[in-house]
Amino acid sequence: MRSIEHFIDGQVVAGASGRHGDVFDPNTGRVQARVSLASAGELERAVASAAAAQPAWAKVNPQRRARVMFEFKRLLEAHMDELARLLASEHGKVISDARGDLQRGLEVIEFACGIPHLLKGEYTEGAGPGIDVYSLRQPLGVVAGITPFNFPAMIPMWMFGPAIASGNAFILKPSERDPSVPLRLAELMIEAGLPPGVLNVVQGDREIVEAIVRHPEIKAVSFVGSSDIAQTVYALGAQHGKRVQCMGGAKNHGIVLPDADLDQAVADIIGAAYGSAGERCMALPVVVPVGEATADALREKLVTAIGDLRVGVSTDPDAHYGPVVTAAHKARIEQWIRTGVDEGAELVVDGRGLSLPGHEDGFFLGPTLFDRVTSDMSAWREEIFGPVLQIVRADSFEQALALPSAHQYGNGVAIFTRSGEAAREFAQRVEVGMVGINVPIPVPVAYHSFGGWKRSGFADLNQYGMDGVRFYTRTKVVTQRWPKGGASAGSAFVIPTMQ
Ligand code: NAD
Repeated sequence: MRSIEHFIDGQVVAGASGRHGDVFDPNTGRVQARVSLASAGELERAVASAAAAQPAWAKVNPQRRARVMFEFKRLLEAHMDELARLLASEHGKVISDARGDLQRGLEVIEFACGIPHLLKGEYTEGAGPGIDVYSLRQPLGVVAGITPFNFPAMIPMWMFGPAIASGNAFILKPSERDPSVPLRLAELMIEAGLPPGVLNVVQGDREIVEAIVRHPEIKAVSFVGSSDIAQTVYALGAQHGKRVQCMGGAKNHGIVLPDADLDQAVADIIGAAYGSAGERCMALPVVVPVGEATADALREKLVTAIGDLRVGVSTDPDAHYGPVVTAAHKARIEQWIRTGVDEGAELVVDGRGLSLPGHEDGFFLGPTLFDRVTSDMSAWREEIFGPVLQIVRADSFEQALALPSAHQYGNGVAIFTRSGEAAREFAQRVEVGMVGINVPIPVPVAYHSFGGWKRSGFADLNQYGMDGVRFYTRTKVVTQRWPKGGASAGSAFVIPTMQ
């Protein structure tokens, strides 16, 4: 059995805790590897290595740090196929989608290549008589990232790209369900010229997360995962005096106005609802047609489109999506389908019971469609994170706008319409962090920043873009004066003002 270990000080380090987790191949349902789960004691070694490496790394000039990022980008591109296959084999997403996972992370690395410019401070000459003021962005020291299973390449790179380029040392705690790609990324960073210790990977579960969040040497923690855990990590991190950003779950809505291009909207919704088996925090699991006529037409087209979907193993080039990540997750999604039925929603297409010949034990689920879901149902309130699409019918624009706005999550939302006026009003008023106008998955590009509202994001600063640089740096402001020799101006007992 293959074992997946930690990566500390530039080398693979075997776990010593005696605890392991199973890593499945979701296509076959079999355990394909065992991942070491670190103890709090094992974290010490990673922190010591990071703390020793960080000061020298921070002194490397930013252009040279950027060159490591450039080389890492080249290596990622050279290894894209191997990485996509490895990723797909543990996560279950199809290979083309695994490449997308890597590519979206790579785009953050491209952004981090601009770090010399991004770190520049501000300067005011003559803020007072003979006084100049300037600001610096300095790294925090040792920082950490805790990532979810659903984007094992992109989300680690969201974090360590800006953090390391800014001069920090980074400890990555990947999801224990698909830990191989994060480990390979760390190896490639070293190959790209990163000094050992600047990026360490510690595998583990809750035990190591708590140790990271409590560790006094770790100055900032970035977390992405489900909301209850995000909120706990946020509170614990703040209690330990850390800078924390914790992104949580989601339940994104797609509003379809009567004037929308329905064929285009259906194509977009199908891809966003079922792509990656719905295991994306920016998936579109709720669609809100406005008016009965729109709802009926939309439902008919959705059913037809679902009929054309192909669920297959992640190496099947024609499959639209693959299995979900674990048997436990599959069972949880099936439970939500039962709950939806029990709560009175109409099950239009039932994806349960799908069996792929030759892969009967894989964690596959067919596309599921519910109609007449209402906002008093727990199946609407909670995140399902599977290939389940819900139609919630609305009578008016106001009612449609109120649904995502009132929801506990506020990650992403989309509106499909030909009306600029309606789209503009929607974008202004909706209580959600990322809005798509005829764009089903509005994940901001790498030079903007990613973050949801309400229970989707416990953070003052979002992921990547300038917010990422701000999160991993502290601003220092220097007020300087170089008095001419001679008569002293004397003491001032009044707070200096610019009057
Ligand atoms: P998860 O919350 O189970 O795990 C996330 C991380 O927390 C993992 O590294 C895991 O090992 C660790 N963890 C698990 N249990 C813990 C505990 N009790 N205490 C401390 N740490 C613990 O999430 P997941 O299932 O890996 O990922 C799916 C979730 O992530 C979904 O809710 C999805 O919406 C969310 N997500 C959010 C974003 C975003 O940016 N908002 C992006 C991707 C995924």
